[in-house]
Amino acid sequence: MTTQIKLRDCAKTFTDGTRALAPFDLTIEGGETIVLLGPSGCGKTTILRMIAGLEFPDKGGVITFDGDDVTHQSIEKRRVGMVFQSYALFPNMTVAQNVAYGLKVHGVSREESDARVKAMLEMMHIEMLADRAIDQLSGGQRQRVALARAIAVQPRVLLLDEPLTALDAKLRVRLRTEINALLRKLGITAVYVTHDQEEAMALGDRIVVMQKGEIAQIGTPREIYCKPQNPFVADFVGAANLLDGQMRDGRLHIGNHVFDAVDAFDPRHGAIIDQGPVELFFRADGLSTCDAAHAHFTGRVEAVSYLGERLRLTVSGIGMHAVMIDTHADDIITAGADVHCQINPDRLTVFPARGDSTTA
Ligand code: ATP
Repeated sequence: MTTQIKLRDCAKTFTDGTRALAPFDLTIEGGETIVLLGPSGCGKTTILRMIAGLEFPDKGGVITFDGDDVTHQSIEKRRVGMVFQSYALFPNMTVAQNVAYGLKVHGVSREESDARVKAMLEMMHIEMLADRAIDQLSGGQRQRVALARAIAVQPRVLLLDEPLTALDAKLRVRLRTEINALLRKLGITAVYVTHDQEEAMALGDRIVVMQKGEIAQIGTPREIYCKPQNPFVADFVGAANLLDGQMRDGRLHIGNHVFDAVDAFDPRHGAIIDQGPVELFFRADGLSTCDAAHAHFTGRVEAVSYLGERLRLTVSGIGMHAVMIDTHADDIITAGADVHCQINPDRLTVFPARGDSTTA
């Protein structure tokens, strides 16, 4: 049985007046892994703590687990498992004792507890560490113990708050793959907080991108990456190019060039953008190199990165900021050269201009 979580009209203002979250709705399906992604201070942890029962939403907010109202229920009653960045393990207990701790609290028999601890340690590949003290473990091993402890009690929901942040980059990728496999195997509803977009893409069935206490977009990793609904999401998730333009009578003007067939629809406001300043978002395939006669722009190559199957150029002189352009891996292009390029209008997403250049 997997648990569906619903948050309805949940907002959070702390007692000191800090408005951490504007009212929002979010449904997390049973067995789904949802990643809350966003910059520091955007409210990710506050949502996680509300689901856990460590914080309560402002008046009017409702949280249900499978339709049961848990809004004012304590953390113990909700049966959630939690894993934090700071492992929060008991340093004076062994690995096995740490994993068994929750089982003891829940009154599980000694026999069953021993069996479950063994199974958990095996699942996390740390059975050989059962009798080790916590302070004799590496960071990665500690995080495995923390995961084993959280899932040993068979929680309805698993909540993970930046569990990999304290680990080095290589270990982070390895554990991330393991966590992914573990969540699929358990089929448990999981909510995972991170500010690392690569981690979010790798783990999430869906990603909730947050900005300043509001949900900027909810979607699958593919939707978030390919169809960002606003410049913030475009910029925050993946390497993005942004250029300024103007819509005039439904036609797109970039510098001296005019484009007709551009899908200038703003999904957030549900309206066609016909007039006014716009921001154009595109990935590295939105521009391609060409000869001078067909060029929309000419820029200066600042850097060339060999990515195996293609070259990625960083080019200045086209927009306010450098843009990335992908080209064939066997092209011979060096930094310092001029490059001519064409824009591919069907690769553009058009947003109304933000009016300033802030992205967070
Ligand atoms: P980070 O990635 O840095 O952990 P976050 O996205 O998880 O950030 P939250 O911890 O949810 O953000 O905090 C959201 C906002 O609420 C921040 O402005 C934070 O300073 C504020 N906040 C969090 N807890 C409290 C509290 N107990 N009292 C007052 N303000 C708080």
